Amino acid sequence: MRLLLVEDDVQLAQRLRKALAEEGFVVEHADNGVDAELMGNEEEFDAVVLDLGLPERPGLEVLRNWRRRGNGTPVLVLTVRDAWHERVEGLRAGADDYLGKPFHVEELVERLRALIRRSHDQVPGSIIRRGGLELDEQRRSVRLPDGREVALSGTEFRILRLFMLNPGRVLSKDWLEEHVYAGEEEHGSNVLEAHVHRLRKKIGHERIQTRRGQGYVFTEDDAA
Ligand code: CA
Repeated sequence: MRLLLVEDDVQLAQRLRKALAEEGFVVEHADNGVDAELMGNEEEFDAVVLDLGLPERPGLEVLRNWRRRGNGTPVLVLTVRDAWHERVEGLRAGADDYLGKPFHVEELVERLRALIRRSHDQVPGSIIRRGGLELDEQRRSVRLPDGREVALSGTEFRILRLFMLNPGRVLSKDWLEEHVYAGEEEHGSNVLEAHVHRLRKKIGHERIQTRRGQGYVFTEDDAA
């Protein structure tokens, strides 16, 4: 999952980056409203954490501009605790959820997961269901149609979650790498291929199909 974290408090941003990376998110950071708006326009994210009090351009304006352009990326706004008017304004501007500062990182992580699931038409809870597979976000395992539960490595889990949240969509290797690996990690397309190969062995080869020159597709249909 690729996240845009917009927060001008450097210490808080560093702490969040670290905690979110540990939860398997790939985090890009912007520390002002102008950069944030540009990044949101030019890059694809699974969700945005947007502080409202930002230098250069207020968070509310950034959010309104995104929505005006038709950018529907799920956005969670960070507000000052007990500032009900900020929450109302945030929701009116197109926020999907909010969290008052200070907050516990665990709550942020769970709200983000819920937000991302909803944006992919998945019901709340920690299980993602597609094509007879059940991916458990807490246990990082997948249950197969025959009832067997298979453990996944961290990277396998992240890749399979992306596939299951985007069924039927061709995901290029570049797109997958961007959403799976943090920038500083060593990776290459053969590393990704090796992970996909192992995933196929675990969940069945027919699930992840190769589209030559384009990427991979997760199929829900056994006959496909
Ligand atoms: Ca701030």
